[in-house]
Amino acid sequence: MHEASLVRSLLRQVSDLLIAHDGQAVETIRVEMGPLSGVDRTLVEIAFQQQGDTTPCRGATLTIEEVPLSAVCRDCGDEFEIERFRFQCPACNSSRVQVTGGDEFRLIDVDMRTSQVKTQHSSGEAATADSCGREPADPAPNRQ
Ligand SMILES: [Zn+2]
Repeated sequence: MHEASLVRSLLRQVSDLLIAHDGQAVETIRVEMGPLSGVDRTLVEIAFQQQGDTTPCRGATLTIEEVPLSAVCRDCGDEFEIERFRFQCPACNSSRVQVTGGDEFRLIDVDMRTSQVKTQHSSGEAATADSCGREPADPAPNRQ
């Protein structure tokens, strides 16, 4: 099953992060999923229940965020979100649109409990610091 192997590699990524940051337990795993990912949300949740129980992610919550299908118009350059698979530019009605996003299934971030009481790995969210370190999933090259 496609979803089972996706979840397997997801859990591997998460446990690598846990080890790298000396985490004790994973609390929340956040992934994003586009409508063109070909991934069945229900199957992902089932696979997570089956596999999550035998990993350091035991007891963790999986949050799946559905991201919209995004596109850019090749005629006027307008960037927009595609609704109901209507591949037409809302600005100039051109049908020469290029899909730019919506096929992803990837880890966004992980909330984990660490041995230190106050651990904040990221820079931007200092005000909400608690016992969870929030860590970006991957230092993606497209981040900057
Ligand atoms: Zn256009």
